[in-house]
Amino acid sequence: MKGTLDALTLEGVSRTYRRGTRAPASAPALHPLDLTVPRARFLAVMGPSGSGKSTLLQCAAGLDRPTAGTVRIGGTAIGGLGEAKLSRLRRERVGFVFQDHNLVPSLSVAENVALPLLLGGEDPGERPRSGLDAVGLGDRGGDRPAELSGGQRQRVAIARALVTRPEVVFADEPTGALDPATADDVLALLRRAVDADGHAVVMVTHDPAAAAWADEVLFLAEGRVAGRLARPGAAEVGRIMRELGRRAASAAQEVHA
Ligand code: ADP
Ligand code: MG
Repeated sequence: MKGTLDALTLEGVSRTYRRGTRAPASAPALHPLDLTVPRARFLAVMGPSGSGKSTLLQCAAGLDRPTAGTVRIGGTAIGGLGEAKLSRLRRERVGFVFQDHNLVPSLSVAENVALPLLLGGEDPGERPRSGLDAVGLGDRGGDRPAELSGGQRQRVAIARALVTRPEVVFADEPTGALDPATADDVLALLRRAVDADGHAVVMVTHDPAAAAWADEVLFLAEGRVAGRLARPGAAEVGRIMRELGRRAASAAQEVHA
């Protein structure tokens, strides 16, 4: 893998959405936030709905531009990159896994995994095949995504996310549509990508059991860091989430009173 010891750093990264050029700015979706994710680290991001999790992920992954602050992926500040260089960086140095696996239905499973390499003009060689082997689907490369189960499709999405050996893998609710046993298979693959291959993973999840696979949980509330928990256990994570949910509900009541 390329780059420095830190896979991802955010310095003072904030995001305020504007409704239009003349409309007043709304409250920041993300207040200035510092974050360092070393290589071989699995970070879960949790918080009530609307707390800024997706905004953080989108800014960190170079899918959205922060209003202020600096995002570095493997030491490269991405704010100064033009669209062409930024999309190349996303393709080569960042992997994505979404709740909806985002596979291309008309391509075979192997072609889906090869796609990030093909788009970069690289010869995929054996990499899609060995990537599918690693997620236990070495014999399904010729199938279409529709022929696989939901959990298998998500494993293909992980193989695709890892095929360029990215510095950071971003996952937004990767197990949100899966039953608990299938979710565990997917989480075990992300865990192995971290432990065996040194990828960094940043995963947004609502599920305390999913977060318990991570090394650390970052809790967000109203666009700010509300806490961090190392070596998270599902029960403790669940307790903190219920507390943040209660606070969010009473804050909303105050606003409407
Ligand atoms: P989460 O993923 O934690 O549910 P989001 O990051 O999606 O939260 O949203 C944080 C806040 O920013 C919310 O108040 C949401 O309504 C607002 N928001 C998110 N995306 C947009 C957008 N594209 N335009 C305007 N407001 C947005
Ligand atoms: Mg979200």
